[in-house]
Amino acid sequence: MSRSESRWFGKSWHAPVNHPDYEIPIPQGEECSYCGIPFNSESQGVKFSSDDQFHENCLSVLIVGPEVAAFIERCRSAEAGEEQQEAGHG
Ligand SMILES: [Zn+2]
Repeated sequence: MSRSESRWFGKSWHAPVNHPDYEIPIPQGEECSYCGIPFNSESQGVKFSSDDQFHENCLSVLIVGPEVAAFIERCRSAEAGEEQQEAGHG
């Protein structure tokens, strides 16, 4: 079993990473490694063992690219409150 090196903070966004065991306090005042904007009490994000920490939105952009991230954002807005099927795309 591999050890997870990432932590998350803020309000859960219902992703697999949002395990209670890995929740940390929001690093308020520290800057996002992607956009440079400091985290505040409303921020949601992920922190890695490398000390890089990102807003949840910024992490999406890093992983899938800005176009797909914008698309996902629209899907989330449209399907707010509804369960989504696992894509299962690897
Ligand atoms: Zn950011």
